[in-house]
Parts: sequence; structure tokens; C-alpha cells
Amino acid sequence: MALKQEGDGSIMDLETKARLLSVGTVQLDRPHRAGRSSTAGPGAGGQSIFFQSGGRVVRLSVVPSSSLRLESSPDDAAIFAGELEVARGRLVEPLLHCPEQAYITVSERCIYDCKFCAVPRLHGGIKSKETVLQMVEEAARTGKMGAISLTSGVEASPRREAERVAGIVRDLSRFGVPIGVSVSPFPGVNRILKDAGVVEVKYNLECVNRDLFRQVCPGISFPEIMDALVEAVGVFGTNRVFTNIIVGLGESDETLKKSIDELADKGIISVLRAVYPHPLRAQEVRMERPSEVRLLSLARHLKAALDRNGLDCALALTGCCRCTGCDLVPGRDL
Ligand code: SF4
Ligand code: SF4
Repeated sequence: MALKQEGDGSIMDLETKARLLSVGTVQLDRPHRAGRSSTAGPGAGGQSIFFQSGGRVVRLSVVPSSSLRLESSPDDAAIFAGELEVARGRLVEPLLHCPEQAYITVSERCIYDCKFCAVPRLHGGIKSKETVLQMVEEAARTGKMGAISLTSGVEASPRREAERVAGIVRDLSRFGVPIGVSVSPFPGVNRILKDAGVVEVKYNLECVNRDLFRQVCPGISFPEIMDALVEAVGVFGTNRVFTNIIVGLGESDETLKKSIDELADKGIISVLRAVYPHPLRAQEVRMERPSEVRLLSLARHLKAALDRNGLDCALALTGCCRCTGCDLVPGRDL
């Protein structure tokens, strides 16, 4: 890892962000306002912080036993590994879940049981349309809301969930910012979301090793997700269709890279997400946080695949590619 000096401290270069993502956690020197709980994302149910340095942003889960330590003051923050300062920057306040976006989990529960996912174990609430509208209203009042992202578990069925989310999206269009949605897909999902005013979608393949997929996502159809993604490119257009792929479930790099290429050839942008071994899922499935070297190699491969196909994460209007906190994002980080 190279430490670059900028002003009075070390900035977070690409390799440093990869190193921080490889750890994925940080301990706080003191309770901090920015260490917020979230119902979405890899560390759902736990606290996390957003750290910005040298134009890059990283989200780290707050874990008291982490090998990384955050020291912060109101306008300065630094991350240490032992006595070594890894990066210096500042903490960024999330708006709703992440900076500059109202990113809301509509149904915090799920009828499925993906073995890496905390949502079914958290038995969270179901937000009414009124609740979501009120949350977005408050976020908009700050003047910082650049996008709305809605994600959801599955309360009853994928279709009912998407129809409910679409109904909420219709009422959110008056805020005049782009709206992205990530739900469990099914035949017909794209038309429902497009007609409601959604501009970007993310349907998560999660695990591209098909044998592993059957084990870690029981009851979910891989081909159905793929069909919805392919159709979505025609409906929503270039640079508007995304899929999360988890790294660290036991899949090989060869499988990952082949899938990244195939997806990019179809106009689908992979979001490579380091697995977060959530305590609520300990021992259920192999979950190994990828190394810095592995993350860098996969991100570079992804960038090349996107470039070949004229795809660009920097054009993302909503969601994870706009946030960049959990991943190495081509076009933004490299
Ligand atoms: S479908 Fe999504 S929310 Fe439901 S268990 Fe799987 S990963 Fe979690
Ligand atoms: S990258 Fe995605 S999951 Fe991670 S904090 Fe940002 S919006 Fe949430």
C-alpha cells in the first residue's frame, strides 16, 4: 500500500481503499454522530461510518474488535492500523443510509432465506407509503438529496412487493430527483417499475457460481433474475441496469471474471460486493472477506469489461454506484 501525502495527511488512494474494504470494519475512538445504524446494505442492523479522503468514499461497519481504528474531530478524521496512519480525511454524514441519497429499505423482512443475508433474521418492519414519503420529505428539506433509492426484502411475494414499491415511486416523483429501485425480479417487473417512473434498477444475482447459488439462495431462480436483467437493459437503457455480485462465498476468480464479462456484454453492470460475514449468519455458509489484491484484480477486470462495452459507473444516478461506499467502483475509484 502506497501512502500519498496531501496537505497534512495521507489520502486514500485506490490501494488504500481496497485495503480498508478488505477489512470492512473499524472501531471508533468515541461515539460519533456519523456512526449510524442502517437497515440496508452489507452490515444491515449495525452501525457504520462513511469516510471520505482524496475524492474517494468508503463505508466501514463499526465493530469494537476491528483491526482498524478511527480517530476523529469535528472536521478531521484518520484511520489507523495499530500506530500506522492509513488514511486521513473526514467523516461524511449519511442523509438516509448513505450520503446525498434517501436510500430506504421498504420491507425489512423477507420470505427467502439467503444464507449470507441478515434481513430475514432481523424481522424488521414494513414501511407504509406514508412513512416513506415522510422520510423523503425530511431528507429533501436538507437540500442535500440528489437521488432516491428504494430497496426491499420480500414480505409476501416479489410481485406484490414490486407493485407496492411502484406505488410509492409514483408519489415520490414530485421530488424531482432520479429514483432507483432494487427488488426481487419476476416476469413483468420491468414494465411495472418503468411505468411508475423508476430510472434505474438493480436485480441481484448475488452468487455467479450456479452450484453455490442453489445452496446460498434456496428457492430463488437464477435464470429468472438474469432474464429480468437482460430485459431491463432494453427498457431502462445503457448504464441503468445493475446487479450485485458477492465476492467471498467460495466462488473462483475465473467464474467471477467470466460472469462479469458476460454481463457487461449484455449491458449489465456488476457491482462487486465483498461479503460481510454478518454475526446473525455466522457458521451458516463460508464467508471470507476478499483480500486487497483480489478486490483490486476483480475491479480492474470489471473496468476493462465495462470499457469494452461502453458502460460507465460514473453515470449512475442512484444507488451503490453513485454512493461508492462499499465497493471499488470503475469510473469513480479507478
Ligand atoms: S432475497 Fe434479498 S433480502 Fe431476501 S433473503 Fe435474499 S438477499 Fe436477503
Ligand atoms: S454502496 Fe450501496 S450498500 Fe453500500 S453504503 Fe452505499 S448505498 Fe449502501
